[in-house]
Amino acid sequence: MQGCEEVDADLINQVLDEAAKFSSEVLAPLNQPGDAEGCHIDDAGNVTAPKGFRDAYQQYVEAGWPSLACTPDFGGQGLPEIVNNVLYEMLNSANQAWTMYPGLTHGAYACLAAHGTEAIQQTYLPKIVEGTWTGTMCLTESHCGTDLGLLRTKAEPNDDGSYRLSGSKIFISSGEHDLAENIVHLVLARLPDAPAGTKGISLFVVPKFLPDADGNPGERNGIRCGSIEHKMGIHGNATCVMNLDDAKGWLVGEPHKGLPAMFVMMNGARLGVGMQSLGLAEVAYQNAVTYARDRLQMRALSGPKAKDKPADPIIVHPDVRRMLLTQRAYTEAARAFCYWVGLMIDTEHRHGDEATRKECADLVALLTPVVKAFITDNTFETTNLALQCYGGHGYIQEWGMEQFVRDARINMIYEGTNGIQALDLIGRKVLGDGGARLRRLGAIIEAFIKEQNGRDDMKEFVEPLADIGGKLTKLTGELGQKAMQNPEEAGAASTDYLRVLGHTVYAYLWARMARVALDNRTDAEAAFYDAKLATARFYFARLLPETAYHIRAARSGVDNLMALTAEQF
Ligand SMILES: Cc1cc2nc3c(=O)[nH]c(=O)nc-3n(C[C@H](O)[C@H](O)[C@H](O)COP(=O)(O)OP(=O)(O)OC[C@H]3O[C@@H](n4cnc5c(N)ncnc54)[C@H](O)[C@@H]3O)c2cc1C
Repeated sequence: MQGCEEVDADLINQVLDEAAKFSSEVLAPLNQPGDAEGCHIDDAGNVTAPKGFRDAYQQYVEAGWPSLACTPDFGGQGLPEIVNNVLYEMLNSANQAWTMYPGLTHGAYACLAAHGTEAIQQTYLPKIVEGTWTGTMCLTESHCGTDLGLLRTKAEPNDDGSYRLSGSKIFISSGEHDLAENIVHLVLARLPDAPAGTKGISLFVVPKFLPDADGNPGERNGIRCGSIEHKMGIHGNATCVMNLDDAKGWLVGEPHKGLPAMFVMMNGARLGVGMQSLGLAEVAYQNAVTYARDRLQMRALSGPKAKDKPADPIIVHPDVRRMLLTQRAYTEAARAFCYWVGLMIDTEHRHGDEATRKECADLVALLTPVVKAFITDNTFETTNLALQCYGGHGYIQEWGMEQFVRDARINMIYEGTNGIQALDLIGRKVLGDGGARLRRLGAIIEAFIKEQNGRDDMKEFVEPLADIGGKLTKLTGELGQKAMQNPEEAGAASTDYLRVLGHTVYAYLWARMARVALDNRTDAEAAFYDAKLATARFYFARLLPETAYHIRAARSGVDNLMALTAEQF
């Protein structure tokens, strides 16, 4: 693809080896202390991240990581987005709270690269790409989270083409901190003549320090942190109330069309949240397996296995294996899913053929809410199971497992709650285009199934895949009909529907992984590929069947949800 001519496996492996070193040696050791210490704010609203975070960020910048997947036009290295995805999985495994500082910055980069004027791009992008300036997204206000149409922050024009913004934003991740020399806030606000609702929202770039004539941080702008939140997890990331008091900003994109522009950042962030949960799922699983191999409790039901020891390691017990394999099957599928979507994003942006670009854009749009909600829901379950593998020790802070569960919980909430992702999926992405995007996905799955014709060794994977694909199509048709009569039907089925679609994708990806394992198994790598096949079999036998319940629940309709009045609850 365009711009990837020089990218080969050697280069990527080298990059990933360095990323692994940075993640494990610099970031991971800061994860537990950062959680225990949290962020600090002084009376003037200056925020400091936990000890070591700033130094780690400087190392990150010096090594050039922020620029990895940014365009060379602004100093980036131009590597594909998929490589950035792999980097982010590792960073998140090591330290989700820290990773949110650079993570949001990459989203701000994408938004300004797509919608900023040339002057804005020239001022901000080189600094963002090198990482010396970080980014935020300022949407939420106390009375408006999901419903951005309610937002009140005001923007009034100045004579010089800039705007003065006033209002208060809450829950702003990385809103204020000491990691970077400047912070670039992307703020949603209303112009004086704005129509009510979401059609009257504009997007502004509002820097903490106004860039001076040389492009360096100059005068302090009127956007300040009022307080930081005390919260369940991600303690190392500052969640800030940001007050705008005649803060100077510049319009990004067209007036009143801020939401579509912001969606570039929001969609990137939704995929990023999926990656956060992939990282957490992996690290929790690695810990749980290590513990299960070491912890001695009881004997195997079939008789002692570690005869030289006072008891068997708990990994011999079927129920512990159920917990470990659930984590493994969901995590490996999530990785395949994130990288598949990452590759489609690169294709969407770089492929020479327009039809191919369009197909990938459609698939990325369809799958974005699924990456966000399906992976984060599963990871809350799998980090919980990892904790459970430790028994009581999982509940004790020292082992670090309860932190993974606490950190995983936010991923189901921010960037649009998972309930809202489910509504977006069924309403906008599936029914909204009469099922066209879904049919694109269906065509890919059907082509794969066809390719396996005559392969007996693939039957055990392809048959359940074809079965769930057919059921998803049927369910979609039924829900489409019902929703035409009563739109509440779509809302009533949405979360169950997302799980059915998510499992259809995972069944497809597990079947693909099984095919690769069958075709590539050699004696030297037998252990790896056999484990892949065994995990695929576990997935089809024990996780995919959950869809039967969700299909039944989705079909049960809206009446059983709406029977009670608000007072009867
Ligand atoms: C730690 C943290 C970091 C955050 N970081 C940022 C950030 O950087 N920038 C930013 O702008 N915001 C940020 N947020 C805000 C976050 O995105 C919002 O909290 C989230 O979008 C939900 O909004 P809300 O809290 O107002 O909940 P509400 O919108 O009040 O929703 C409450 C519940 O009602 C449900 N609900 C609402 N409307 C509907 C509907 N139409 N149909 C079905 N269900 C519905 C929701 O799913 C949810 O379960 C952060 C929040 C937290 C806690």
